[in-house]
Amino acid sequence: MRTATEYIESLRDRNLQLWVDGELVADPTEHVRIRPSINAVAMTYALAHEEETRDLATAHSDLVDGPVNRFTHLFREPDDLVKKVQVQRILGFRTGTCFQRCVGMDGLNALFIATWESGPEAHARFVDWLTGVQTRDEVICGAMTDAKGNRAARPSDQSEHYLRIVERRPDGVVLRGAKMHQTGAANSHQILVMPGGSLREGEEDFAIAAAIPVDDPGVVMILGKQPSEERRGTADAGNVRFSGQECVVFFEDVFVPNERIFLNGDLAACATLVDAFAGYHRASYGGCKPGKFDTLIGAVSALTEEAGVRKKSHVRDKLVEMVHLTETIHGVGLAASHKSTQHGAGLWQVDRMLANVCKQNVTRLPYEIGRIAEDLAGGLVGTMPSLEGLDHERIGPILRSVVGSEARAKLLRFVENLTYGAGAVPLRLECMHGAGSPAAQRIVIERNTDWSARMAQARKLAGLD
Ligand code: SF4
Ligand code: FE
Repeated sequence: MRTATEYIESLRDRNLQLWVDGELVADPTEHVRIRPSINAVAMTYALAHEEETRDLATAHSDLVDGPVNRFTHLFREPDDLVKKVQVQRILGFRTGTCFQRCVGMDGLNALFIATWESGPEAHARFVDWLTGVQTRDEVICGAMTDAKGNRAARPSDQSEHYLRIVERRPDGVVLRGAKMHQTGAANSHQILVMPGGSLREGEEDFAIAAAIPVDDPGVVMILGKQPSEERRGTADAGNVRFSGQECVVFFEDVFVPNERIFLNGDLAACATLVDAFAGYHRASYGGCKPGKFDTLIGAVSALTEEAGVRKKSHVRDKLVEMVHLTETIHGVGLAASHKSTQHGAGLWQVDRMLANVCKQNVTRLPYEIGRIAEDLAGGLVGTMPSLEGLDHERIGPILRSVVGSEARAKLLRFVENLTYGAGAVPLRLECMHGAGSPAAQRIVIERNTDWSARMAQARKLAGLD
């Protein structure tokens, strides 16, 4: 298993086409906007080598017959699902941001199941590829979301808004199109493209799951913008070491050889893939988000201490509410993982209903957590001048007299980062739309509810039947 340093070194060998604000960036590892997001991924490597986290952050793989990082591991036992959520919480707490490696992990597990359903050839190709991923301890960028264009139209009516096969050759396929919101794309080694939604007969050109090296000449990445990102590397960063990352990834006629194609036109297996991935990733939010909220709770608790109001009953009550909402999210994520069932392929799957309830909570409760944080932290979160001025000869003393301590100023910036600064992109916005927007979960919740059993029992108890 790679160390954090080895991981960062491995990123330098790539020949990325990464665009940042209209400029091509050759080596992202030292780029002030990108490095904090690399630091966050590196933490997934660091935990695998720390005594107290090793059990959660690693697992024995039968594919390589040795220990592997959990982020490349298969959910072979029910406990693997639980440990995943636990390690995600620790990582959210360590970094205070998105550590970017879960989409790949959830994606490769879903694809293991989907290729098993597709047939022995597809499955063997996938297992071969995964063995290599585990051996090299790679970061896999799971790429699902298409641009989608007009939601009322089918992919076949507007193929330019979807990643698609534009040419089939005896030795592989040629892909064209974009994937959106790609978490950690520029910090990865390979991209695992997968269909982003259900497909119908005649839409086989969109039914592709395949692996592509991040530096394939046809792969073009464009870094997403985040509020207050220009503060990275300055005193006003908020989170001084870590950040998240999202990119638009465009595939400009990328040739994929047969050995890296796992699903090709198999609509039923693609449906399984999308469904399995949604379950896994919606439960993942029950791990990473609570870890990040723990850091926000810590910041607000410290700020109220600084302000001398920590012991006031209404302040304590609000802090307790932040904890209560955080644990509610975590509890459902854990429950979805504990109440697992085994698929024929041998992997364990989360409880579909609870995973979707977990993610549905994540589209709401964080807004209340953030509201309380802003309430307790006070208006200075939004109006505080730059921390660079704290040591200024002329204005420094003025600032210190209004801000109070340097600790208070830095904690206020940290709260700002998570509630509406750069950290709000991988936190708040992602709480809403990551792993599927709220409506997607409500569809699953409705479909998985046995309405007639409930109605029949109500009628019975009411003495109707
Ligand atoms: Fe992992 Fe959470 Fe980031 Fe998704 S949002 S990649 S689950 S840390
Ligand atoms: Fe996500």
